[in-house]
Amino acid sequence: MSNIIFFGPPGAGKGTQAKIIAKYLNISHLSTGDILRNKLLDNDNLSKELKKIMSAGNLVSDDVLNSIVSSRLSNENNGFILDGYPRTLSQSEFLNEFLSEVSKSINYIFNIQINFETLKNRILKRSSEEGREDDNIDVIETRYNEYLNSTQKVSNFYNKEYPTIFHEIDGSLQIQQITENIKQILKKS
Ligand code: AMP
Repeated sequence: MSNIIFFGPPGAGKGTQAKIIAKYLNISHLSTGDILRNKLLDNDNLSKELKKIMSAGNLVSDDVLNSIVSSRLSNENNGFILDGYPRTLSQSEFLNEFLSEVSKSINYIFNIQINFETLKNRILKRSSEEGREDDNIDVIETRYNEYLNSTQKVSNFYNKEYPTIFHEIDGSLQIQQITENIKQILKKS
């Protein structure tokens, strides 16, 4: 059974790869960004609050994320890919405790790396294709800074604690090539 985390800045292609690999391994793809974007459709007080935070490119509170992820993972017995979570050290502490309570562990971590110029161009392209409100030039910088200030600390932590399952992936390659590189690692270990 494979339990996987994908890390990487916004626009690195983690969502695309997570979707492909989840299908390939026949496991669940848990994108916290997608789950939150679905919640926005509810149009209640929580969704109004979430919309403000997300459209500005800031992070939603750890409590909201931890409760979303723990309720989803409680029902996963077949393996999963976490895409967009954990994004803060507090979320990673919560995840570790939660996984040990349910006797599960992470088997692979893929850290997709890409430079800021490339991802800026990718996000602007995605914005014209998907119409995401947080895909505009002002918000990209905030989201990238959130990544540098919070999430990169989390991936560094995992790299240090779990070096044998932590894999750096070059996100500047073509989608198919990136998928191939990930599959090679899955086949090897
Ligand atoms: P993504 O689709 O992963 O880029 O996420 C889109 C937005 O959802 C982010 O900019 C955050 O506002 C919010 N979000 C998604 N995952 C998390 C998380 N783990 N912690 C906090 N906020 C999150």
